[in-house]
Amino acid sequence: MTNSELSPSQPGYLDPSSPVSARVEDLLARMTLDEKIGQMTQVEKNSIDPETASRLGIGSILSGGGGNPTENSPAGWLDMVSCFLETARQSRLGIPLIYGVDAVHGHNNVVGATIFPHNSGLGATRDADLVRRIGRATAVEIYATGVQWNFAPCIAVPHDLRWGRIYESFGEDPALVSRLGAAYIEGLQGEDLTAPFSVLATAKHYAGDGGTTWGTSVMEFPAIPAIGVTEHTRFMIDQGDTRLDEATFRAVHLAAYVDAVKAGALTAMASFSSWNGEKLHAHHYLLTEVLKGEMGFSGFIVTDWAGIKEVSDDTYQATVACINAGIDMSMVPYEYQRFISEMRQAVENGDIPLERVDDAARRILTVKMSAGLFEDPGADNRTLHLVGCQEHRFLAREAAAKSAVLLKNEGQILPLSKDQPRIVVAGQWADDIGYQCGGWTVAWLGASGNVTPGTSILDAIRATVSPETVIDYDPGGVFVSTGQTMAELGLVFLGETPYAEGFGDRADLALSEADIALLERMRGDCRKLVVVLVSGRPLIISEQLPLIDALVMAWLPGSEGQGVADVLFGDAPFSGKLPYTWPQDMDQIPLSNISEGDPLFPFGFGLS
Ligand code: BGC
Ligand code: BGC
Repeated sequence: MTNSELSPSQPGYLDPSSPVSARVEDLLARMTLDEKIGQMTQVEKNSIDPETASRLGIGSILSGGGGNPTENSPAGWLDMVSCFLETARQSRLGIPLIYGVDAVHGHNNVVGATIFPHNSGLGATRDADLVRRIGRATAVEIYATGVQWNFAPCIAVPHDLRWGRIYESFGEDPALVSRLGAAYIEGLQGEDLTAPFSVLATAKHYAGDGGTTWGTSVMEFPAIPAIGVTEHTRFMIDQGDTRLDEATFRAVHLAAYVDAVKAGALTAMASFSSWNGEKLHAHHYLLTEVLKGEMGFSGFIVTDWAGIKEVSDDTYQATVACINAGIDMSMVPYEYQRFISEMRQAVENGDIPLERVDDAARRILTVKMSAGLFEDPGADNRTLHLVGCQEHRFLAREAAAKSAVLLKNEGQILPLSKDQPRIVVAGQWADDIGYQCGGWTVAWLGASGNVTPGTSILDAIRATVSPETVIDYDPGGVFVSTGQTMAELGLVFLGETPYAEGFGDRADLALSEADIALLERMRGDCRKLVVVLVSGRPLIISEQLPLIDALVMAWLPGSEGQGVADVLFGDAPFSGKLPYTWPQDMDQIPLSNISEGDPLFPFGFGLS
């Protein structure tokens, strides 16, 4: 269609009855170079105001982890997001802006949203239908706040439990990750991407993020107390180098992308990591030839947070390298003026061909058009009540129960009877919603305490047992004073404190000394001892195992602690199976070392 054929009142690209490709070509023909570059730019929400974003034709705004509005409520989110979207509609061409968030276990930045188990727990369920339903519920909560793009799922295939992103991954088996990743994408995007409550998924982090070698990370993160980073931190494995031959790299780390593309993923995020020393962000072969070419990925590739800057200190050269390699949108996220001017300069200098810019803009506009954004009026406050609604909390409870893995059950003491006279409960993980949700919950790194509404495991236990049962809770586990008899039954909750990304890179996954001391004291004080781990990954517990009658891995179950009580007291069966091999000791990490002896529990283990 040429401009002369269009009626002046209705430009062709706004006609929903024409095919998407015709609409996109019509729109592209009207766009200036600056407007195309604008579409390729994604800015962090505090770094730009809606008017500037609209004037520059910015393609996308994001909230990073903890990028919350001042009033962190569903309504506060809707206001913040709508303001950007509505202002963008008034830009010269009215191209809709797309707002992106990390809703990696529910719409987790929003206070009041349903928090589902992190992916390691979902991997333990082996239940694709459950994961699809979680994707759907998450999309509903996201869309209700005006957001239409989710930077999830993470379809990494990790091989090293020391990595701080283990809990963001479904497990160590490529087939499992493929299956659950595809189910999540289908759930999130719904049957019709143009329908309300459908949200775009992102397959991330492309590719090989889970295969990096310990010690190869070059990331040094400065202390930024405002976002919870209290000290300068050197990452150890996150964002490192994946050293593998191509056949293995493909089999382990690319398989899930083939299925993600088949499931309809229209965006992919490049990985901070490298493959055999080459940064993924500038990897023409993997981005353009393999993903866009071989796999037939027709969507667009977004960088990770400041991903271009990490390729080289020379930001101009880095921009040229990444865009030419196949990056379509830069999550800048702060200094967007520099990205825009370097892009313009690179095109003028002939360092980036105009065709590459057209291709990137075409891909972005095609995704926006395919997702119905040009027609979608977006959310209004009539559906805000869906955020954190009862139905979604029931689903999160079901998921928490199905993810629990029973690792030991001496004398079949689990499930527990609900009418014990007294149960003593110890460990901070019993009664801390922030701990049971983990990282990426309201704050990027997560936090302790009542960070969002939910049910702590302890409250759930209290609600489950008979009215006559006495529940004595002491985080430090001091119950028995001299002369008192032993407790019949003790429950100890242990785990990891919240973290995200490379802040969770840990050389030693042993229980802390304090936790070991607590466990040993409880052993002495209780006739029967049940230990529940609240942790995103297996911890080294071989030496303590003989002291424990029953051991349960609860992963990071999310806001609905009732699911954990359900399996402990028999309201739901134990059905979870390990998505990660559980090592005896640190020498069995990474996974390739496991052949040197038997693991403590093999992949797939789980009693019922
Ligand atoms: C993470 C991504 C995330 C992005 C935006 C990065 O640090 O690696 O997974 O999507 O931030 O918050
Ligand atoms: C953001 C995260 C982001 C990180 C990376 C944080 O400020 O909240 O989403 O991944 O910075 O630097």
